[in-house]
Amino acid sequence: MLDPGASYALDPRRVRGLLGGVAAATSGETFRTTAPFTGQPLAEVPVSTAADVAAVCDRGRRAQRAWAETEVRHRARVLLALHDLVLDRQAEIMDLIQAESGKARKHAFEEVAHVAMTARYYGLTAQRHLRGAPRLGAFPGLTQVRVNRAPKGVVGIISPWNYPFTMALSDGLPALVSGNAVVSKPDTLTMLTALSGAELLREAGLPDDLWQVVSGPGPVVGTALIDAADYLCFTGSTTTGRAVGAQAARRLVGCSLELGGKNPMLVLRDAAIGRAAEGAVRACFSSAGQMCVSTERMYVADDIYDAFVAAFLRRIESMRLAADRSFETDMGCMVSAAQLAKVTAHVDEAVAKGARVLIGGRPRPGIGPLFFEPTVLEGVRPGMSIFADESFGPVVSLYRFTTEADAVARANEGGYGLNASIYTRDVSRGRRLATQIRCGTVNINEGYVPSFASIDSPMGGMRESGLGRRQGPEGIHRYTDLQAVASSRVRVAPVGLSDEAYARLFTRSLRLLKRVRRP
Ligand code: NAD
Repeated sequence: MLDPGASYALDPRRVRGLLGGVAAATSGETFRTTAPFTGQPLAEVPVSTAADVAAVCDRGRRAQRAWAETEVRHRARVLLALHDLVLDRQAEIMDLIQAESGKARKHAFEEVAHVAMTARYYGLTAQRHLRGAPRLGAFPGLTQVRVNRAPKGVVGIISPWNYPFTMALSDGLPALVSGNAVVSKPDTLTMLTALSGAELLREAGLPDDLWQVVSGPGPVVGTALIDAADYLCFTGSTTTGRAVGAQAARRLVGCSLELGGKNPMLVLRDAAIGRAAEGAVRACFSSAGQMCVSTERMYVADDIYDAFVAAFLRRIESMRLAADRSFETDMGCMVSAAQLAKVTAHVDEAVAKGARVLIGGRPRPGIGPLFFEPTVLEGVRPGMSIFADESFGPVVSLYRFTTEADAVARANEGGYGLNASIYTRDVSRGRRLATQIRCGTVNINEGYVPSFASIDSPMGGMRESGLGRRQGPEGIHRYTDLQAVASSRVRVAPVGLSDEAYARLFTRSLRLLKRVRRP
């Protein structure tokens, strides 16, 4: 229930202070954001123009030249200072995340933890990832090659509203530490949270113009950023991702695309039922299912189906839905009326076409205007939108399976390939099955947390769920250009040899090299 004693409005001075962080907004227009918990106004956010975005990128490019000259360990210190600030200021950060997104406190904390872990990881490993490395030269002892990594310049980050703190910040940290400037365009609904991240970076010691935030609608401000940046990191829907990829391709600038999912969970016959039911609640309903890696379909072995469903529904019945700042609350609400309408339409259409609601299925305006119940459906079939389209809400469809081969084939149906999970007591079997699943991450005996929290491992989608990876070495290397520097101890064309004699000598050398040298 709405906590009557709590104030969800933000201090107007604080809001003005944060909005002052928009790098340029000369349109004279503003847009109003509202608090999902209450529907009350939150902020009047100034809107940038396409010309503002171009000017901001120019400014970033000038600042970047000096930044790229600094030592990696100097840049890494900013990330490590950010780590401490984020942990120290977590209460205010979570207040902002909840105010703008309507998620529960414990899900807001996931974002705090993810930013801190990303900052620590790249703060401590950037030197290793960015170090130049020798490669084999053409001829042993005669040719030396070293590969360097150079920053791209200005990296544009376009991020969604669903993880407003970590999606706006975490992808930019490896870009910064590798010597780039960042221009960030967060979703319009969650600007204050993103601006608070930029403020923390300044406090952590980042010089001016290296992290600038622009604001406004994606089709205007997002496209302007793709037109001006040297690399683009996009997180959002597959539909928008295709347009972003096409625009970046026209300019021949690189991009990474972290897109949607319709993520399957397999509960095998030997799964620990209690553990699977408990994990499924987290996998399906964290951030009210508004999570790219959220489980939206579950394939449960026939033998344990009834016992699993009973355990799952029991846990859902005891979930606490509320618009408050308590860590005891299990689920918050949808971010916007549009998102609530989409989820409601998915469920209503499925029911009209014959799906059964095992629990939930309705909005809960008594708790707050954008609440929707955690919902479990059975009998979902092709021809219903919810069968293959991403709902991005607290709704999951259950299916029985008899053979594991069938479960894997159904998990691989559809165009998405972001995240999957497998519940089994036999982890080796789970690992073997994982290799047959066409998803960028597979979690065994959990929904999404182990892969998302393992910052050294790559995260991203196969097929229509994306291109490129965040996190790990891949997550920092995407922001660098490779340069091979080769030198030769001798002249390539020896003096006094005819071209024909040289070709014969070269041929003999190649035959010899094949026998004695392994690349
Ligand atoms: P969206 O694609 O509508 O918007 C995402 C961002 O792109 C916003 O900042 C928006 O302003 C901007 N944008 C919109 N149109 C644009 C255009 N033509 N050019 C450039 N930028 C544009 O996504 P959404 O619906 O707000 O977010 C939810 C989606 O994001 C879901 O599909 C979800 O699965 C996906 N997502 C993916 C990941 C991941 O890591 N794979 C993480 C979070 C969310």
